[in-house]
Amino acid sequence: MIDFSHFNSIFELTSYFNSEEKCKKVIFESRWNKHDVVCPFCGRHHCTTRTDGRFHCSHCKANFSVTVGTIFENTKIPLVKWFLAMYLISCHKKGISSVQLATDIHVTQKTAWYILHKVRTLYKQDDNVQLYGLVECDEMYLGGRETNKHESKKTAKTQGRSTKTKTPIFGMTMVWKTEDVNEQTGEVKEKTHTYEVAMKVLDIKASTLIPIINHFVAEGSTIVTDELSAYNALDSKKYNHVFVRHGEKEFVVGCYSTNGIEGFWGHFKRMVFGTYHFVSKAYLERYIDEAVFRFNTKEMKESERFSYMFGKAMGTCYYKDVKISMAA
Ligand SMILES: [Zn+2]
Repeated sequence: MIDFSHFNSIFELTSYFNSEEKCKKVIFESRWNKHDVVCPFCGRHHCTTRTDGRFHCSHCKANFSVTVGTIFENTKIPLVKWFLAMYLISCHKKGISSVQLATDIHVTQKTAWYILHKVRTLYKQDDNVQLYGLVECDEMYLGGRETNKHESKKTAKTQGRSTKTKTPIFGMTMVWKTEDVNEQTGEVKEKTHTYEVAMKVLDIKASTLIPIINHFVAEGSTIVTDELSAYNALDSKKYNHVFVRHGEKEFVVGCYSTNGIEGFWGHFKRMVFGTYHFVSKAYLERYIDEAVFRFNTKEMKESERFSYMFGKAMGTCYYKDVKISMAA
């Protein structure tokens, strides 16, 4: 298996992945441990290598290449460009636009747009993540400001939290702290960590939000929310519920706050407005997934994030395996 830990710059990456053969070799080794080629169609092990470099399954008689079943399947874009694109996409903390990516890897903007959307599928959140301990929940709206629109384009009754022009997004942030000891000075510093789950929702009624919380947040957890009435329906036997009353300019209650989720909203808005400028409703979910991925991997080194993304492209790595276990 390839060691990704030394890919901490574009130079190191492109020096290593300098040919299609090298890229294919890395995909091969990442997918098929100990060179046991598994058929992507029927799952049979020990497929044979053909003279043309492709593989053959004796069970279902399929012939396939090393990229079948990965995001690189059927691509006409050279793998060296794919790898470089994935590295650039994973390194830019606020995302990268298709215009910028097109210039950086020398493809058309249409191709760059296609690569970006394909890579975004790797960010898909895991529906089976369990959040526990301290979890901050909050909602925000994304969409055009009615006051900036021409009279003819304004939608009636859309002030405040209307969903006619704005899309509500619901977020849950698990927050935990660790104590880091400086080995030289012996000084102990408290460090805050977060893990985010966020999604587009139809509305912010209790009937929508409470089932989501029940699904993702483990019983016995403490849930911090603002004063939105929907949260009153939280099961008090299941959760310890703390209100932070934003309307009364209250942002911290004892040791509780909504700073974790506010941090995510800030990050999300910087990505959406700073890099992409405009996000269509059709692709909103993918952008939310991307923002969550970037937020959840912010403590990783460039090489670790790339390695994780690469693992996802091969279908062999799941983020919850590496991250959530740290909080236990
Ligand atoms: Zn087969």
